[in-house]
Amino acid sequence: MSAVPPSALGTSDELSTEERNLTSLTIANVRLPHEDRALASRLWRLKCKLGKVEDISLLQSRDDVKPDESNIDAQGSILIPSFCHSHVHLDKCFILDRCTIVSGEFHEALEVTGRAKAAFPLDLNDLYDRGARLIRESVQFGVTSMRAHVEVDSIVGFACLDVAQALQRKFELICDVQIAVFAQEPLFGAPGDTTPGLNFTLLQQALQRDGLTVVGSAPYVEPTIEQAKSNIALVMDLAVQYGAHLDFHLDYNLDADAEPLIYEVISQARRNHEYWTQTPLRPRPRRITVGHATRLQLFTPAQWHHLAEAIKDLPITLVGLPQSDMYMQGRQDWDQPLGAPRSTLRVPHILNEYGIEIAMSVNNVGNAFTPQGSLDPLSLCTFGVAVFQSATPADIQTLVRSVTLTSKITIGQDSAHLGLFPTRGDPADFVILHGTETLQSAVLHPAWDRTTIRAGVMVSRRQTQVWFFDVDEGNPPACPTQA
Ligand SMILES: [Zn+2]
Repeated sequence: MSAVPPSALGTSDELSTEERNLTSLTIANVRLPHEDRALASRLWRLKCKLGKVEDISLLQSRDDVKPDESNIDAQGSILIPSFCHSHVHLDKCFILDRCTIVSGEFHEALEVTGRAKAAFPLDLNDLYDRGARLIRESVQFGVTSMRAHVEVDSIVGFACLDVAQALQRKFELICDVQIAVFAQEPLFGAPGDTTPGLNFTLLQQALQRDGLTVVGSAPYVEPTIEQAKSNIALVMDLAVQYGAHLDFHLDYNLDADAEPLIYEVISQARRNHEYWTQTPLRPRPRRITVGHATRLQLFTPAQWHHLAEAIKDLPITLVGLPQSDMYMQGRQDWDQPLGAPRSTLRVPHILNEYGIEIAMSVNNVGNAFTPQGSLDPLSLCTFGVAVFQSATPADIQTLVRSVTLTSKITIGQDSAHLGLFPTRGDPADFVILHGTETLQSAVLHPAWDRTTIRAGVMVSRRQTQVWFFDVDEGNPPACPTQA
């Protein structure tokens, strides 16, 4: 297999902003994820101009297309909205070569990753190359936007942030890399501390840089529950002060005795109700995101209804991180007959029963928190079919939405279109899944060959090359004849 750059079709790196704005693109002979089966089986022509969908028409017969810089022949393959990583770590990816996994437990992952992380500021080229690889591979899978968590603390200083901002500029034409300034380390130095330490000061300093619109933390790393709640309050105050989105790693446990801190987030958001709900106060709406939230899986139906009611008008979205959730949890009960108890937010079930739409994201790739898996958001849907026991047409739609439209809404891309089926005026951000005709097969066995389109411009094309031993050479067909 090889990644084949679109040699005949200048890559976006070669296009100026003005040229992109004038570019038009027609995608012919394409299938679209219409809910109506008959319409989903038909071929369509999609015209994009100025970064948006200009026209969609049903074809009576196959278009005769000569592929060039403004025409793609999809040859009957399906096109869906491009993917969004609503939660991915840009700095601690691809570091398994320097992390030895022995017990596989969470504290070990923190420890070995911490050691690797201490060396990040000593080799910025390594940070840059790994981050660039993450973005490139993501775009090849069909990702055109991501929320990239980047750590700022006394260990790495601003090294990860400096590199992330350089990567953001480098790739801005092909992928929207939204940086979340993230405190993975505790804000409080020791149990009993009531004022935050250096890590908080650095977080605050980072937010004074131009162009940063997200701040986040992992309250569960604080020494005490009181300090975890203070962490939430401090980071929320920063978000309000700097006009930012808020993103927590939260309730990452399956402990019925652990207090669900989602309610702390909700009550503190209510204290800043105007900021989170009244658009005129800010240039653009801001959102609160809660990643992991596996503790919520222990909720009864009544507790879920109560949570939905408590969130109500607050712009809060939960993000399931199934690859990390399933790999990391329950190891203290390893010897149980069914294995370690694990769970991840049941995306289709929670929508169907409680009306809460949930995003899914890759989180980590190639580190001690998540050694397995690729950067393909669609692989999470395949995994979800098994883990959630969800393969109905409606659930398939929900799974695909979770890695496309729901994820885009989660990171504040308020221009994202509403449906998987494109409509006129939608942003022209798509992925064509070659050799795949239906949404069902897209999820059940994702295509490797893909074309990624961002703002109406092709930014990546990946094709498989296959060589196969010719078993028929010199021989007649081996199929037996019917008696
Ligand atoms: Zn994370």
